[in-house]
Amino acid sequence: TEELLRKTESISLIGELSAGIAHEIRNPLTSIRGFVQLLFAQSQLSEKYSDLVISEVDRINSIIGELLLLAKPTSSEFLDKDLITLLKQTVTLLNGQAHLSENEIDLEIYEQEASLYIRCAENKLKQVFINILKNAIEASPPGTEIRVQVCRQKQHVLIRFMDQGKGIPTEILSQIGTPFFTTKSGGTGLGIMISQKIIRDHQGTIQFSSNNLQGTIVEITLPYTYTLE
Ligand code: ADP
Ligand code: MG
Repeated sequence: TEELLRKTESISLIGELSAGIAHEIRNPLTSIRGFVQLLFAQSQLSEKYSDLVISEVDRINSIIGELLLLAKPTSSEFLDKDLITLLKQTVTLLNGQAHLSENEIDLEIYEQEASLYIRCAENKLKQVFINILKNAIEASPPGTEIRVQVCRQKQHVLIRFMDQGKGIPTEILSQIGTPFFTTKSGGTGLGIMISQKIIRDHQGTIQFSSNNLQGTIVEITLPYTYTLE
């Protein structure tokens, strides 16, 4: 329990810290955006370049927005949210980290559903997707792809995460989700446990499998609410 307290403490400290840093980055970013527009308006350079700079600044801004959202004390209020939007946001956020290790996260939406509404605590669910994707990135050798598939199955939505990493051996498979169980030197061994609890709170299921150590598959099902066309 003492260790749990210590770790929970450091997690909320990280949250507070990143919220502070995010705000500090936002302000100068806003003035950079404004001045870049001004500079380009007065220069002979093609508009193509200014559009590029502006869109990159906007991308930083949206990533910071995501970080802020996560750092906020998470409300566990359940609301109808579009799962596809949620997944897109999480994938955008984590693709930055994936690129550092030369991986790519690819989101496949089955039959290009316009939307898939589910009743959920948005930030908690995002936390689950982040935990799973982080594990996938950490297990993936450079140059491999992480696939996220989402589809509707009558009363449920199915989200499948697939990586081409080292997989999870059977003897390890039965231990993951146990508090502090980790095979990583800097791991907390809390990610899967927290994710399992959040999915349980959503009346969903989460399953891990690994085929002959050809990567890992994580399947999550959640009750489906409705679709807006
Ligand atoms: P941590 O990531 O801090 O180790 P987690 O609870 O997230 O804690 O994961 C527990 C363990 O499960 C990991 O240490 C790793 O051994 C295993 N694991 C989870 N996801 C994967 C994956 N995609 N590929 C290989 N092993 C994984
Ligand atoms: Mg983890």
